[in-house]
Amino acid sequence: MLETRTRAFACPTKYFQGIGEFDLLENYTAMFGKKAFYTIDGFLYDDLKTRLDKSYETSGSDFRAVKFGGECSYSEVDRIIREFQEFEADVLVGVGGGKTLDTAKAAADKIGVPVIIVPTSASCDAPCSAMSVMYTDTGEYIHNIRHKRNPEIVLVDTGIVAKAPIRLFIAGMGDALSTAFEGHANQASFSPNYVGKGYRCTNTGVALAELSFEILMEQGISALHALKQGVCTEAVENVIEANTLLSGVGFENTSCAAAHGIHAGLTQIPSTHKYLHGEKVAFGVVCQMVMENTPKETVEKVMHFCNEVGLPTTLEELDVEATHENVMVIAETVVNNKLIYAEPFKITLDFVYNSIVAADAMGHYYKEKFS
Ligand SMILES: [Zn+2]
Repeated sequence: MLETRTRAFACPTKYFQGIGEFDLLENYTAMFGKKAFYTIDGFLYDDLKTRLDKSYETSGSDFRAVKFGGECSYSEVDRIIREFQEFEADVLVGVGGGKTLDTAKAAADKIGVPVIIVPTSASCDAPCSAMSVMYTDTGEYIHNIRHKRNPEIVLVDTGIVAKAPIRLFIAGMGDALSTAFEGHANQASFSPNYVGKGYRCTNTGVALAELSFEILMEQGISALHALKQGVCTEAVENVIEANTLLSGVGFENTSCAAAHGIHAGLTQIPSTHKYLHGEKVAFGVVCQMVMENTPKETVEKVMHFCNEVGLPTTLEELDVEATHENVMVIAETVVNNKLIYAEPFKITLDFVYNSIVAADAMGHYYKEKFS
């Protein structure tokens, strides 16, 4: 429980979202100076570099772009800083998935320069936060670090995000699904959020998390149908905003709890490594609902949603056999990780073990019911 009654809130300074915004990036980098340095995900590099060449051609600004190295590691952060400084750039722009964006945020924070974050999918809620998840050069998780400032600008080109693999969009909804549940747990238990050294949630943070949930429930399924046809609709725009801005600002300001705790437990089982963060978090939400004994109406809403969009609600869907040994590995990791202690009740190994078993059974029940 927090030692302070002080509440705190953080968010990016500006957020833009729309089709074709990528080609207007020069307008945004020019706010900070004439020289922009880009780090771009490898598989998008050629296409996006060509678009940048075109938009900077007739402008008064100059840019340099490099391919992201693949890991958000301390050596990659230092490489980006070195190249940024060689070019004597004024602003750093990260373009790509979570690791690219986290690297750009960490590099900008270390040398105190402005950063613009350009996510190319709506797969997680990393873009808006003042945090980076650090890995070794070979991809082992080290820790999360917090930055002094949130990004100056988060810019989402809906045209690019809508063309990303659909599974990334679904996983983003899985991650966003957890935000309101976890926010409420943190609020009830008086736990610290991720702002600075950790403060109480503001009502604002909780309201944003709740709005993210409402949009998913109302428009998630129709957004997915549209995206499957390769078209962008108002529902698609709304869910991208829910996944990126609302859930992003929501989680930073209210913090994670059991759903992400279960995610951490699942990562201990190698067969889950092929599943995306948000897919594992979705099963975590099912477990959290069992732990909190969530009212049936909400449970049915969430289970229906997950089955419709294809988010996992059983261990089987994450390629985990529901054996005593496997559930015990997950439960033991969960109770040894601090996330679960954001829940507003006593946590024991038995309680977590039983909740996972019950969640898995509930997942199977609703799967049959909604099939
Ligand atoms: Zn997450």
